[in-house]
Amino acid sequence: MLTHRQTDSAINRAIVIGAGLGGLSAAMRLGAKGYRVTILDRLDRVGGRGSSITQSGHRFDLGPTIVTCPQVFEGLWAACGRDFHKDVDLRPLDPFYEIRWPDGSKFTARGDTDAMVNEVRRLSPSDVPGYLRFLKDSQRRYVVGFEGMVAKPMHKLWETIRVLPEFARLRADKSILGLAKSRVRDPRLQMALSFHPLFIGGDPMHVTSMYALVSHLEKEFGVHYAIGGVQAIADAMARVVTLQGGDIQLGVQADEILIKDDAAAGVRLTGGEVLAAPLVVSNADAGHTYTHLLRKRPRKRWTDAKMGSRRWSMGLFVWYFGTKGTAGKWSDVGHHTILSGPRYEGLLRDIFIKGKLADDMSLYVHRPSVTDSDVAPAGDDTFYALSPVPHLGFDGPVDWSVETAKYKDKVAAVLDTLIPGFRNTITTELVYTPEDFRDRYLSPHGAGFSIEPRILQSAWFRPHNVSEEVTGLYLVGAGTHPGAGLPGVVSSAEVLGKLVPDAPVPAVQRMAAE
Ligand SMILES: Cc1cc2nc3c(=O)[nH]c(=O)nc-3n(C[C@H](O)[C@H](O)[C@H](O)COP(=O)(O)OP(=O)(O)OC[C@H]3O[C@@H](n4cnc5c(N)ncnc54)[C@H](O)[C@@H]3O)c2cc1C
Repeated sequence: MLTHRQTDSAINRAIVIGAGLGGLSAAMRLGAKGYRVTILDRLDRVGGRGSSITQSGHRFDLGPTIVTCPQVFEGLWAACGRDFHKDVDLRPLDPFYEIRWPDGSKFTARGDTDAMVNEVRRLSPSDVPGYLRFLKDSQRRYVVGFEGMVAKPMHKLWETIRVLPEFARLRADKSILGLAKSRVRDPRLQMALSFHPLFIGGDPMHVTSMYALVSHLEKEFGVHYAIGGVQAIADAMARVVTLQGGDIQLGVQADEILIKDDAAAGVRLTGGEVLAAPLVVSNADAGHTYTHLLRKRPRKRWTDAKMGSRRWSMGLFVWYFGTKGTAGKWSDVGHHTILSGPRYEGLLRDIFIKGKLADDMSLYVHRPSVTDSDVAPAGDDTFYALSPVPHLGFDGPVDWSVETAKYKDKVAAVLDTLIPGFRNTITTELVYTPEDFRDRYLSPHGAGFSIEPRILQSAWFRPHNVSEEVTGLYLVGAGTHPGAGLPGVVSSAEVLGKLVPDAPVPAVQRMAAE
């Protein structure tokens, strides 16, 4: 069957492959520009990695839990003539999160600088001056790296070359861990100031020190949680798309991006159906877009070999579980806790360089039930525990059909130090391994966050938002500029909005208007 016939009335059609936060943002931007948008996603609900699954009354927020930079959402809504805060209940958190180390020490992160300085002083008094210098480092990197680059098109080499002097001045060649080490001596503080890139799939020993900007982002704009989880944001986006006249088709998978006269012409679904449109936006992973959806097209830049030689972000082992009658228990465990393992650099090397599943681990523990009463039945709790693990692209990848049960026991032993006896209270659970990321999101190597954000895989070096391979094809989402994380993927659609002209008006509409 052929729909959206390539007639004059279809010239304002756009297809967005993928209803992740990047794809939904793209659809909103295109809708605001007058396009008639169709979103396609293989899952049964919108949100991609930001979607949720509810089991026995427990809502598992599958992926993102921390919302930073609410202004990127506010800007997106404003571009559509709406108010983000009327559609989404976003709550600022205080404290932001707590880090705990095996020696029993803790660090509570907050927006208030005096409170943060007190935390640094408590752990290592001599590191206070270095911490204050790190805050300045962070602010300077924010101005250049965030304000100057994130929502700017980076497909012209010149745009990247232009910022190189500033990058050199800010020692962007240094890793974020290298920067933290040059400012503070205490290994716990070195970790606390450098772990943030892990939330977008980067190895702190190798990603550029420009990512120190995240400390400034947190301090200036806070850490937030959306009531209803990120799923509530995705659902609100889908409502805007529908109000703009867009169409969202779930449970359908794009198999090929069609090309006519060297330009995008539509999409063929796995069932054979063809949807025609002169503008196609892919929010599928950039690796999947080029090596699968454009597999029949000879490619100049993003060949299979080039994609295969990228460094990919780590995989994730995520254990979601609901616990019964625990709401008043573990009262010192808040919404976000990081349980740092006994090794930092050694563990990073195992995960990112050697591809080895280590026995020790660092865990991020999510307990949304302390902020959002609807996430669990009354009196109960909903948790997830996330452990970064190697992706599946190493030689001799981890066989999760064998390892899952054993690894879960190891995670349980670590979690028991935070929430003793939790295993006896579990009523429902779900585990995602890199194999689930591969199969559910079609993520190459089951990576959690697409291509790793190293300096030579960022900005111009990342797959561009306007495709290098096909006219009329655009890319948004984690694998393209500026990169993973909610602010990143929403900003990728802001870039799209700058690259795509307003929708052409079909002749019938023109005549009706005249
Ligand atoms: C566990 C976890 C925790 C995270 N925590 C945070 C956090 O706290 N804060 C933060 O800012 N970020 C966080 N992130 C990162 C953030 O969630 C992601 O970077 C972001 O959601 C990715 O959005 P996206 O639009 O690029 O793609 P995705 O969410 O991957 O969406 C892509 C969509 O495309 C669909 N698709 C793919 N191929 C096809 C096809 N051929 N046909 C049809 N549909 C297709 C998929 O089904 C999917 O729905 C986290 C990520 C994970 C996994």
